[in-house]
Amino acid sequence: MAGEVSWLSERARRIQPSPTLAIDSMAKAMRAEGKDVINFGVGEPDFDTPDNIKEAAFRAIKEGFTRYTPSSGIPELKEAIIEKLEKDNNLLYSKDEIIVSCGAKHSLYNIAQALFDKDDEVIIPVPYWVSYPEQVALNDAKPVFVKTHEENSFILKPEALRECITKKTKALILNSPSNPTGTVYTKKALEAIAEICLRHNVFIISDEIYEKLTYDGNKHISIASLNEEIKKRVIVVNGISKAYAMTGWRIGYAAGPRELVRAMAAIQSQSTSNPTSIAQKAAVEALKGPQDSVQRMVEEFDRRRRFIVNELRSIPGISCIIPAGAFYVFPRIDGLFGKRYAGYMIENSSALSMYLLKEVFVATVPGSAFGDDRYIRLSYATSMDNIKRGLQRIREAIERLR
Ligand code: PMP
Ligand code: GLU
Repeated sequence: MAGEVSWLSERARRIQPSPTLAIDSMAKAMRAEGKDVINFGVGEPDFDTPDNIKEAAFRAIKEGFTRYTPSSGIPELKEAIIEKLEKDNNLLYSKDEIIVSCGAKHSLYNIAQALFDKDDEVIIPVPYWVSYPEQVALNDAKPVFVKTHEENSFILKPEALRECITKKTKALILNSPSNPTGTVYTKKALEAIAEICLRHNVFIISDEIYEKLTYDGNKHISIASLNEEIKKRVIVVNGISKAYAMTGWRIGYAAGPRELVRAMAAIQSQSTSNPTSIAQKAAVEALKGPQDSVQRMVEEFDRRRRFIVNELRSIPGISCIIPAGAFYVFPRIDGLFGKRYAGYMIENSSALSMYLLKEVFVATVPGSAFGDDRYIRLSYATSMDNIKRGLQRIREAIERLR
């Protein structure tokens, strides 16, 4: 265990591995042992990367586009990102305000490196995506958690935000559509947050990676697009992993104030250098090519979303709100706490996730990984057949509890 090795850096001893990726590895290892595991753990589209995008990558290889590129991304891709931000988000940026990184996770990490100093406070609404607190802490800043509530669709309330701002507050990390809750912020909610952040000089890190995945007429709005003043205080993070089923290609990007982008580019030039040349060419095609595959994915996710929510709601002890975006459901499970079966005692979300994995081979992520132990997360980025079989197993496992 890193925690027991005294010669490791304090930082290394503090860091926890990503629980979402850890559960995915565990599920895959069990599958390799021949167990029929149904994986609702990791959030990655089960669709294949569209052919036109793959073709662009083949072309790049054949044409010998296999060398270092400018460290912060090729101009062609920055132009495609600029066009996308204008078309989809009504945001105008120039090339020196854009940086391409090795996934949105890497963009977020570069931001943390470029923005946070020791003891800076960074506000993170709970439930949060697993990597935010760790990235903040890795950069010696302090995560400040602010609770959001299911009754309010997990939207951060202005009063709650105001209450946790201090002189040390540097930034707020906002994630809409949200992982794990699926919350899509309304314009009104964003306006209230923007106003407070402007007044208190708080940066907004706006993680918009799930922007294309919204349902029931909900539409993603970038907080940076509200007005010119707020745009100066927002760094928008986005990428191609989720919208184009390209998790393994590792391309993400950020758009924001040029001084911040310049600092991120310097950090990147000293750490990873450029994101993969071939993947950058594929990303140009993803952003500029036909978009019909996105629409098809959204329709399929929507069908699964409705099914999974209805099934979960019919299991005694579980309640579940219908998420407006992303591809996760976040059912409330604390109604099962205190119940037992065989050697299992369901005392918290981890115990429930472990029980489901060991007893019926269904992988989920405990809510504790997202800062709220009363829930678990299921990703429905898996086939309808898996969803049906997986939900049947969950039902049976929960019915066994006494
Ligand atoms: N932000 C959120 C909220 C996510 O769920 C993910 C998922 N991996 C990322 C960022 C990072 O995406 P990627 O690094 O694959 O672009
Ligand atoms: N973001 C996805 C998830 O939350 C992928 C895993 C990760 O990057 O942590 O499951």
